[in-house]
Parts: sequence; structure tokens; C-alpha cells
Amino acid sequence: MAMNLPCLHRAARLVPNALVVGVLALLMLNRAGAQESTNGFVAADFLLAPLRVHLLTATNEPAIHTRLTSNDVVRILGKVNRVWAQAGITFYLESLLTEPAQNTSDYLKRAKEDERTALLALRPKDSLATNCFHVFYLRQIQPNGIYFNAQGIFVKDTARLRPVEGGLDEPLPRVTAHELGHALTLAHRQNATNLLASGMSGGWLDAVEIAQARKAVQHRPWVESASAMLQRAEALQRENKSAEARELYRRLTHVPVEGDVVRLARRRLEQAGN
Ligand SMILES: [Zn+2]
Repeated sequence: MAMNLPCLHRAARLVPNALVVGVLALLMLNRAGAQESTNGFVAADFLLAPLRVHLLTATNEPAIHTRLTSNDVVRILGKVNRVWAQAGITFYLESLLTEPAQNTSDYLKRAKEDERTALLALRPKDSLATNCFHVFYLRQIQPNGIYFNAQGIFVKDTARLRPVEGGLDEPLPRVTAHELGHALTLAHRQNATNLLASGMSGGWLDAVEIAQARKAVQHRPWVESASAMLQRAEALQRENKSAEARELYRRLTHVPVEGDVVRLARRRLEQAGN
């Protein structure tokens, strides 16, 4: 975005104030739009990564019991994917589970002593898998969100962020997208508008982070490109394995940019009456 600044300064010297305001507004619009930039990645090149979302419940422990609903998750994931479109990466909802947290007694006390152990102990064992990313939503933890290497991301309902120009309009998608950045090996980078700045609402990734995140996500054998997924879906369709094909088409519709791959997936779902 720094590249815009010289143009802006030049415009400010040469044009009347009203026009400057207009140019500024346009730049800000472009900037907001650029949050959803795809940096030239076309839909077919998007990398699709499975995300299992766990809504943790705990009737005896309000500090754990999430108030998020499945509608919230769909909204959050849509915004997460618009951020990650900058890197040509899409997280599709592999499954959405509302499930009782484990080992809930004395959670707050145990979390104060050793948050990592207390949080990891909350995960229901039966829904853990090694072939997807995991996000656990719960009501209250110390930080907004936390990523434990290969063991899951925890995000609190009550996350708060400092707003920055061009940033996301609500904390939860930003915190979720930020923690997914850590899961894709990215470290903190404290420029105010970056996705990897801590405690702020920005969502930008630079070219180095994009390359690093794509490399990291491609290391997972369970991540595939949109074009490969479409080919697999079409093959299943030809073999009359409609239910399996439909699931792949559904995943493809998570890609937040238009393209033949997404259009075909949508058409196949319509044809199947979904
Ligand atoms: Zn962080």
C-alpha cells in the first residue's frame, strides 16, 4: 500500500480540495477492496484446506460455554476466507461441531496456572483428527486467540481488537485468520495494518508471508488445489458417486472469487438439487 502514497501526495498538491477528498475516498475504497485482493490468484489455483470448527459448550462453566451459533461460524469463515484470498488459500468447513468440552471443572483455576494444559484438556478426544485444521471457540481465555503447534487454535467469543484503517469490521474473523497465519508458520509482524500484528484489526499479508503460507499449507497432504478438487469431483460424478462428488463441489463454493471452477461447482450443486 505504500506505493499509493506518492500518488496521493502529488494529487494533493495539484488538485482542488473537493477532488482530493474524492481521491482519498476512492483510495480508501480501493484499500478496503484490496483487503479482498487475490494478488492474481485465479480460482483454479486456490489451495483448499479443511477446517474443523468446534463450538465448546459447558453448562457448569460459563467461562467456557461459547455463545456462537452456526450462523456466526458461517459469517466468520466467509470473512476469514476473504482475508486469506490474498494468498490464494481457502479454508472450507470440513465440519461444524457443537460439543461439550472435557475436563471443565476448575477450568479458570487450572488455566491461570497452566493455560496450555487447561485448554488442550478441553478438547473432546473423539473429534480430534490429524487431517484438518482445528478451531475451538469458547467464551473466555487470557489472550484473544492462541495457536498450539499442530494441536489446535482457541479463540474467545469476547475477543477485542484495536481498530486500524482498512481493518476487519469485527474481531472474531480477524483473530481466527491471525491464528491460522501462525498455523501456517507465520510469525508476528507488528506493522499496524498487518494480519500478523497482535491485538489489531488489520488483515494485510505481504509477498513473503504469502509465499511462506502457501508453502506451509501445501506441505499438508490433505490440502489440494481447486482445480485438482474439481477433477476429483467430476470423476466421482462420472462414477455415479454423487454424494461424494457433491461434498467436493460444496467445498469449492467456499472459494471467495469467481472463476470457472466455482461456477461449475455451483451449477453441479444446483443440478443435484442442493
Ligand atoms: Zn499472534
